[in-house]
Amino acid sequence: MQLPARFKRKFFALFCACLFVAFLFGVWVVKGVEKANSKVHFYPFTVVIDAGHGGIDGGVSGKNSKVKESDLNLDIAKKLKKEFEKTGVKVVMTRSSFGGLYGTTAKGFKKRDLQKRIEIINGANADLMISLHLNYFSSQQCRGATTFYKDGDEKSKRLAQAVQTQLNSSSGQTRNLSALKGDYFILNQANCPAVICECGFLSNDEEEKLLLLDEYRQELAILIFKGATAYLLS
Ligand SMILES: [Zn+2]
Repeated sequence: MQLPARFKRKFFALFCACLFVAFLFGVWVVKGVEKANSKVHFYPFTVVIDAGHGGIDGGVSGKNSKVKESDLNLDIAKKLKKEFEKTGVKVVMTRSSFGGLYGTTAKGFKKRDLQKRIEIINGANADLMISLHLNYFSSQQCRGATTFYKDGDEKSKRLAQAVQTQLNSSSGQTRNLSALKGDYFILNQANCPAVICECGFLSNDEEEKLLLLDEYRQELAILIFKGATAYLLS
């Protein structure tokens, strides 16, 4: 039996619509799998970000603004976290609030604070750790971001050099600086490649002004992310 032409047209239109929906569904599934794969297979990394100081330990203060180092460290840490998370990297923060990690403010709080940071870092099974700080010195001459690593630790040295290379390209860096060896508790105790980024001097008038700018802190976060990623993928 022959179907009337108008039924044939309706049937054909319905068939085309179903085909189109099936195509869209297929694209959606493929994109979903690609996205999942990109997280599972291409970026199976865990990174610890340590925003230095916090709570009653504000770190150093801005020479003119009196801004607390601990607050700026936290802001850069949050910006850096966002950059890593965009690529699917798992991020563990030692602190995400303005508070410190010492529990009570009783004597020995600084030691308890550092010990807690080490507990978090070493419990994260991380591929690397970045501790964020700001510097202060009596001379106006001192400025620029510097990265520190533990002496004799080759992986940390490579990470520090990769981060330093990026930081040397920041708009606030007036000359190229080298990654430096540093004898710091957090570097000595970390069970993964670890660096301290001293992101600039709050004692230098110009650099303090820059560090107070949200865009500049964002720039620093992106550069640290680029350096760390270059190390992870090397
Ligand atoms: Zn500090």
